[in-house]
Amino acid sequence: MMLTTQIKDLSLLPCRYLKGVGPQLAERLSRLEIHFVQDLLFHLPLRYQDRTRVYPIQSLTPGDHAVIEGVIENVSLPKGGRTRILCQLRDHSGRIGLRFFYANAHQRQSLQAGLRVRCFGEVRRGSLGLEMIHPEYSIANTDELLKTEENLTPIYPSTDGLSQTTFRKLTDQALSLLKQGGLLKEILPSKLLQKFSFPSLSEALCFVHRPSSDASIEILMDKQHVAQKRLVFEELLAHRLSLLSLKNTFQAQTAFPLKKSVALTQTFLKNLSFQLTKAQQRVVEEINVDLQRSHPMLRLVQGDVGSGKTVVAALAMLQAVENNFQCAVLAPTELLAEQHFQTFKSWFEPLGIEVALLTGQMKVAERRKNLAEIAENKIKIILGTHAIFQKSVEFANLALIVVDEQHRFGVQQRAQLREKGFHNNCYPHQLIMTATPIPRTLAMSAYADLDCSVIDELPPGRTPVTTTVVSNVRRNEVTLRIREACASGRQVYWVCTLIEESDVLQCQAAENTALELQQTFPELKLALIHGRLKPQEKEQVMAAFKKGDIHLLIATTVIEVGVDVPNASLMVIENAERLGLAQLHQLRGRVGRGAVASHCVLLYQHPLSSLAKQRLSAIRETTDGFKIAQRDLEIRGPGEVLGVRQTGDFSLRIADLLRDEELLPDVADAAEILINHYSEVIADLIKRWVGLAAQFGHV
Ligand code: ADP
Ligand code: MG
Repeated sequence: MMLTTQIKDLSLLPCRYLKGVGPQLAERLSRLEIHFVQDLLFHLPLRYQDRTRVYPIQSLTPGDHAVIEGVIENVSLPKGGRTRILCQLRDHSGRIGLRFFYANAHQRQSLQAGLRVRCFGEVRRGSLGLEMIHPEYSIANTDELLKTEENLTPIYPSTDGLSQTTFRKLTDQALSLLKQGGLLKEILPSKLLQKFSFPSLSEALCFVHRPSSDASIEILMDKQHVAQKRLVFEELLAHRLSLLSLKNTFQAQTAFPLKKSVALTQTFLKNLSFQLTKAQQRVVEEINVDLQRSHPMLRLVQGDVGSGKTVVAALAMLQAVENNFQCAVLAPTELLAEQHFQTFKSWFEPLGIEVALLTGQMKVAERRKNLAEIAENKIKIILGTHAIFQKSVEFANLALIVVDEQHRFGVQQRAQLREKGFHNNCYPHQLIMTATPIPRTLAMSAYADLDCSVIDELPPGRTPVTTTVVSNVRRNEVTLRIREACASGRQVYWVCTLIEESDVLQCQAAENTALELQQTFPELKLALIHGRLKPQEKEQVMAAFKKGDIHLLIATTVIEVGVDVPNASLMVIENAERLGLAQLHQLRGRVGRGAVASHCVLLYQHPLSSLAKQRLSAIRETTDGFKIAQRDLEIRGPGEVLGVRQTGDFSLRIADLLRDEELLPDVADAAEILINHYSEVIADLIKRWVGLAAQFGHV
């Protein structure tokens, strides 16, 4: 179809208006969330290749992608199948092999000694020197030498059935629409662009899709070019504004004001076997004040592993219960939900407060009974994973939602929870707890809609965990340590990690390790826990471990979050080099929870990459979560991809909070400027970049 004169707004122009886009291609594009021409323009290249010039063979190193040109010296047909070809190509500077494993008849015929060819491909180290495997090539005498290009060649993130050629054809069309005046609104005021010396939106897009041949690939790959920053900046700005508007909307809503709890809190603190730390008291007080207000609290509590967040949440919950309201506690895993259930039962039942756990696998009758008692306001505290927010669960009067280990819940989930608790024109208060320390600037942007409290003190009497890094070859030394720990009545975690994403394989590996370890330690009681056990089985294992009936617990990383067994004083992490800093810190936080000196052994497999080396030494040197988070930033530096989990599914299209951290202060300034002087553009900006999530801001 042709572009009609009416539809020039590229944010409304569906991709199928582009030449060559039929239903099938449109469907494939939509898998990448590309629906409109604007989406295509914001689908930025992942990397670039330089096809702008012909490189001398001698200048190549493995890993380069390059165009080369030379004469075929000889062609051989290596053993191993009739389809294989190996050519030697020579130019004035040197030689390189061109290797084809599956050459078709045409290729076998056309590649002849003496011909001049031009190739493009990736350079690798082969057995006989440098080679290109299955390069693109063209032969000189056919007159159509592989063209060198004017611009760097973009490589787009893609999906099955969508070739780079297709992408380039489509973006060519989109860019020419843009140049012909197709409308992609410049939302940012020109004053703002000038202040930060940014190019216009269309200049930036044209450059990023088709960088000129003199642009530095390295800078582009690191996403440090001003055109890229201009786009990232706009996205971050939109997100910040959307969070701020979310916060505004939220603060305009009403909630049940909860009077300060007196009676329950007194008894609770009297029964508690320890005294709250100063930091805990401060945070409890901050929450207490929030809850007395008639608009919903939305507070993030950051506290390092072991800083005692659970008891802080419990005190908030007492305030709701004393006002005769219900609380829901949301945990990221069933294992953690179960553990909280045990803890809260032991704290709350003596006070006559009923606590219930809702899991997916519960017996129907039991579940029905629970649901009925929740609907009647008999049960006050409801624990579970996000399953507690299914339709079938009807709360009588929910006033507080506690979300533990927040990094697995994003903005949208937060909004959904709030809707679920809506009744009598009131929204529930929300308390979000995380042990994943987030450096301040990051917290500012990813959680701009939240108020923050920090528990910056550990309970007294903790001896810091000492950490050693040991090569797998010296695994035997670990055996000794385990025997010692168990002989003195302590318990041990053995954590198995595996690169494979597959759950099945992970669990299998853990099973094998368990068998091996049982042979090594016939005298010890071992148990295994992993993600594929039934919830009851997990429950039993954890209960037995907590009671001290099990000496050595072999686990996958399911125990990473929240598990609390103070008598465990030794943790061995296998293949520790595979884990990120944040995950290592979380895991290690499972020990050192009692008064006894604890120890963590990081076993690694030789050889260590330099990044892994830095990670392991960082984790050995400090146990301070905030320092580790900062080190994490430094080690990864720009360009390193960040796992979804750590960004807290804050879904960004082109920005990366870690990589682009340095932009954040300017983003915050710019947000202020827009709010104060250009508030009319804010809605458009949010709509462009945040879309769906922003809608929650206007419910
Ligand atoms: P996290 O912040 O990692 O969730 P938890 O709430 O699980 O930490 O607390 C860790 C351990 O410390 C628990 O066994 C808890 O009972 C204990 N604890 C919490 N606060 C204190 C305190 N003020 N004094 C002594 N022990 C405490
Ligand atoms: Mg916890």
